[in-house]
Parts: sequence; structure tokens; C-alpha cells
Amino acid sequence: MVYVPIVPGFIMRTSIASVTPDTPTAAVTGWVHEIRDLGGLAFILLRDRTGILQVTIPKKKVPEAVVETVRSLSKESVITVEGTVKAIEKAPGGRELVPERITLVSASESPLPLDVAEKVQAELDTRLDARFLDARRPRVAAIFQIRSRVQRTVHEFLYEREFINITTPKIVAAATEGGTELFPIAYFEKEAFLNQSPQLYKQMMIAAGFDRVFEIGPIFRAEEHNTTKHLNEATSIDVEVSFAGHEEVMQLLEDLVIACYRDVERDCPTQIAAIEYEAFAVPKPGFKRLQYKDAIDIAAPKLDEPIAYGDDLSTAAERAIGEEMGEHYFIVDWPTEIKPYYAMPYEDNPAVSKAFDLMHPRMELSSGAERVHQHDLLRRQIAAKGLNPDNFGFYLSPFRYGMPPHAGWGLGAERLVTTMLGLQNIREAVLFPRDRHRLVP
Ligand code: ATP
Ligand code: MG
Repeated sequence: MVYVPIVPGFIMRTSIASVTPDTPTAAVTGWVHEIRDLGGLAFILLRDRTGILQVTIPKKKVPEAVVETVRSLSKESVITVEGTVKAIEKAPGGRELVPERITLVSASESPLPLDVAEKVQAELDTRLDARFLDARRPRVAAIFQIRSRVQRTVHEFLYEREFINITTPKIVAAATEGGTELFPIAYFEKEAFLNQSPQLYKQMMIAAGFDRVFEIGPIFRAEEHNTTKHLNEATSIDVEVSFAGHEEVMQLLEDLVIACYRDVERDCPTQIAAIEYEAFAVPKPGFKRLQYKDAIDIAAPKLDEPIAYGDDLSTAAERAIGEEMGEHYFIVDWPTEIKPYYAMPYEDNPAVSKAFDLMHPRMELSSGAERVHQHDLLRRQIAAKGLNPDNFGFYLSPFRYGMPPHAGWGLGAERLVTTMLGLQNIREAVLFPRDRHRLVP
């Protein structure tokens, strides 16, 4: 028996993908995807995370013990099948395994809360309730393998450019950008919140002279509305760069997004096939820049609701503009009044800021800006938002002791994966999504 381990160094077991038509014998452990009993002949489809293998059981020709085991098998049980491999055109992967021995490793109860082999997908809620079963489906597993590849690319890409990976607190005393959208928590005798963004901490590490920092971590938003692009716990890819302006970090963002697509295209062809998203395509470099005021002009005639200069872009507006643009693009030159106080206004036109959003035609992916690094200007901008600068002591202090110019952005990891793979709902890109109604599992 020749074993080809799934991962070198792990328990000796042959991965399904490594069984080819000219493998002589194999011992394969996996889950019972399907069982079909046709009288004299039975079939098991055996599944592991690398693929599916047909096990063919001619009842007269295999040991009686094998026939016995097959008779009592339930779907989704874990079994080990040892036998001879035969080339056969009709089977998946052009081969089948004829067993000499089948060992039941771990039996599954039936009925299953979710049918793993079912072609028609169950409702998303049912799937999320039984997520461990849902994630056994090749299509779902593929999403998370790709998400993992994306996160690896982000790390590699930023490490190559000498970024320092930082970890900042998720339990905080005050809001980053005002009091809305925050989850309060009980913190001993004090009131505290779950952090909505690492913004202020990233900037403090710029003050510390770290030059280039990033964090991939959770952000918490008490969004009450139930949409297909919002989560209450999301993952933000956050970057901050010293001695850089908005143009430099926009280029960095574009390069990173393209690198993620390229690596997925190169390393995950089977996963892309499993997801069956034919429109997967690496975006072309040179993302278009659309001025905020032109974005409003595109959206206004297409919408039922009126929209004017100074309004935030509604979901309908984003869609209308996205249809027109057709590919990734930046919206630049936002009115200062609708961007956070830390966005840098243009010196010659302070009503407009050096802020940008990276857009996919379907939704916003990232927001960023050159930041205000002057203490007095920052105080004035905080006050202009109706907030009291005296409440921002710990944030403002670094700006008094040598804060370099800097810029940065936050990119939503789930939105990146959702749009890359054409997923209908952002919840599909999260193992255990948190939304208004979902706290379990
Ligand atoms: P939106 O307007 O779409 O609600 P936002 O402008 O409030 O998003 P930002 O504060 O700019 O979000 O956060 C930066 C990025 O983090 C967003 O572009 C998005 O990709 C991601 N993000 C923010 N909030 C959420 C959320 N609730 N669910 C999923 N991703 C989010
Ligand atoms: Mg935004």
C-alpha cells in the first residue's frame, strides 16, 4: 500500500486528489458523500477536502465483510477504504477504488441537519445553523480556501514592502468617529465599547515612527439594518503609511487588490471551478478615478430618491454608478463635511478632502485618505463635526510631539472576497457571521 499524505508530516493517509488512474493501490480516508446500492453493485462517493473518489463494490467479488459494512453505512460517516485502483472513464477523475477492506472510523447519525451532497442549496439560514456540515460542501470549502489565500497574499505583499504587523485593542473607551454604530460592553465598573476601527491606534504607531503598519483584525459595527453587504463583526485590512499622500496609498491599494486576484487565479483554479463563478477576472491596472461630484451627476438621473452634492452615496447610488463604471474604480475628492475629521482637506479648497473610496461595481470595498497631521487643524476639524476636542485627549496628544504626514485606508476582507467570487450575500464569505439576528453558532 502506497500512502501519499495529505500534508507532509501528518498522519499517513492518501489524499483523494493524489489517487490517479495509474495509482496501483490506495488507502483513502474521507466522508461518505453518497451511497448508491444497485443490487449486485454498490457505489460510495468518498470525499475529502481535495476531491471526490468513486468506490465501486461488485458484491460478488469483494470480501463479505466489505458488503456487510457498506450495508450499515450512513452518509457523512468517516471511513477508510483500502483497495485497488482501476482506470475507468465514467468515474470522476477517471478512476475508481475497488475495496479489499472498509473500516468505519466515525459513524454519522441520520437524518443529517443538512444534506451535504444535495445539489440544490438550502436556505442560507439553514446552512449557517449547520455551518460545519455546510462547509463540507466543495463549493463552500472553496470560498474559505480562497479567503485564506487572499489573507496570505495581503501578509506577503505588505511584508515585502516592509510593513509592520500590529495588533491593537478591540475593547476601547471611546468612539473613533462619534458615538453611533458602537456596541457598548460592561467593563468592570466602566463603560467600554467594541472598537469600530483601528484608525486612531494605527495613527499612534505612525507617531511612534513605525513608518508602515498594517492590521488584519475584527471591527464591530452596530449596524441595525439587515443588508447583504453589512456584518456586525467584519474583518478589516487596515494600512497606514508615513510620509505618503493619498495618491501613494491609492496605488498601494490597487496593487494589493490586483495581487490578491492574481494569486487566487494562479493558486486556486479548482476552487474557482467549484464556486462556478465564470465571471472571475483579474482587474486591469490603472483603476479609473471618478470625482465625487461627477459620481453624483451619474447617479442623480438614475435614482427615484433625490440625491445632491453633499449627500452620502446610498446603496442605490453606488449601484447606479457601478453600472456605469463596470469595473473597479476610485471615487475621489469628497466633500470634507461627509468624511471623518481625520481626512486632510485640500490646502487651496478646504471644502474638499484628499479622501477616496475604492469601489467594486457592486459595493464599496475600502475608504481611505491622506490624514490631518497638524494638531490645531485636527482640533478644528473635530469641533466642526460637533464633537468636543477635549474628549479626544489620548488621540490628540501624539499630534503635539512630532507627527509625520501620513495616509492610509481600511479594506473590508469579506467584501473583497464577496465581490471577487460573485457571492450573493456577504455572509457567505464568513464562517460564523454576526448580524442583527445571528449570535449562534
Ligand atoms: P458602508 O458605507 O458601505 O456601510 P462604511 O463607509 O461605513 O461602509 P468604512 O468605515 O469606510 O465603512 O470602513 C472601511 C471598509 O470596511 C468599508 O469600505 C468596508 O469594506 C468595510 N466595512 C465597514 N463596515 C462594514 C460592515 N458593517 N460589514 C462589512 N464590511 C464593512
Ligand atoms: Mg467608507
